[in-house]
Amino acid sequence: MRCPYCGSLDTQVKDSRPTDDSSSIRRRRICPDCGGRFTTFERVQLRELTVVKRSGRRVPFDRDKLQQSVDVALRKRSVDPERVERMINGIVRQLESMGEGDVPSETVGELVMEGLKGLDDVAYVRFASVYKNFREAKDFEEILEKLAEEPEEAPRLKKKPVQSE
Ligand SMILES: [Zn+2]
Repeated sequence: MRCPYCGSLDTQVKDSRPTDDSSSIRRRRICPDCGGRFTTFERVQLRELTVVKRSGRRVPFDRDKLQQSVDVALRKRSVDPERVERMINGIVRQLESMGEGDVPSETVGELVMEGLKGLDDVAYVRFASVYKNFREAKDFEEILEKLAEEPEEAPRLKKKPVQSE
């Protein structure tokens, strides 16, 4: 596995263990050349998927590209890489279970937005702004308002009625 920092091919596995949901093996690696540390995941691929772009162009589904766009959205946010890995696994499983091998790119985008919403609000808005190609500030406002509403609503529903004595 090539070192992402210096490009050396001589990296070593320091630790290897399954993720919490046992769907992947997480390996911590170290590069003896530059001392860089990074993590890789080994996982099952059930079948090949094809993404159909809005233009109609068909491209093979590329998990690494999906990961990259998620990483960009999560830049400088402190989110456990294992949670990110689980989210992406979930997206891939959902895509794989959709029956046909062809998946509209919109579906992938919607799933990523849903996943990020549960992980990190800032990343969600970042991704949504790129994905939806917002042109008007109004769209941002709507999304930010929705985000502001959701955390308050949930506990209010769970609150037990006050008993009078
Ligand atoms: Zn290195």
